[in-house]
Amino acid sequence: MSNLIIVSAPSGAGKTSLIKEILQQDKQIKLSVSTTTRPPRINEIDGVHYNFVSVEQFEKLQQQNEFIEFAKVHQNYYGTSKTWVEQNLKQNDNVDILLEIDWQGAEQVKKIFPDAILIFILPPSLQILRQRLTDRKTDSDEVIQNRINAAIGEMQHCNNFDFVIINDDFNMAAKQLLSIIQTQRLTYNYQKIVNPKVFEGF
Ligand code: 5GP
Repeated sequence: MSNLIIVSAPSGAGKTSLIKEILQQDKQIKLSVSTTTRPPRINEIDGVHYNFVSVEQFEKLQQQNEFIEFAKVHQNYYGTSKTWVEQNLKQNDNVDILLEIDWQGAEQVKKIFPDAILIFILPPSLQILRQRLTDRKTDSDEVIQNRINAAIGEMQHCNNFDFVIINDDFNMAAKQLLSIIQTQRLTYNYQKIVNPKVFEGF
């Protein structure tokens, strides 16, 4: 049995670092590799961080119904492989599937898989978000303001999520993220399927 977990957040909320941390701590979680038309950043490896494709290739995959969800985020297209998700959910390995996707994708997946667990990560405040984006020293004031405006729009969708984590203290947020995922493995339905012998004879 595998749970489908979706984690969304605006940029600067610390989602990528949190996911990296929990993947190290819990080997029962597998991260989906998305397909994108965004050019790779330095240190990003094709097939590891994303499957990098052209807009034409992306549109072809989309027409072939290859995506379980897709969305345009910050001028680029992103999509999750339908085949990969379905195959991994079917595998009887008790490994949970994690999708790191935006709110639009999360809402699409929830419609197809109502049991998917949606988690939204928020920064503690807009001031702290601004500080984090400024501290990166990679963007101009104008770019930072655009990102904050985009973040406000994205954060307004957190009410459609099952859980919200406020990433103030990194270790605490990682602990909370892990505990949400691990608790899903203790539901009656999950236990009954994964440990049927325990339920025999009573
Ligand atoms: P970045 O380009 O910074 O890696 O990601 C930009 C945004 O796109 C992030 O919010 C990320 O979660 C989202 N994203 C990444 N992969 C997918 C995907 O397959 N589908 C959707 N809907 N969003 C994605």
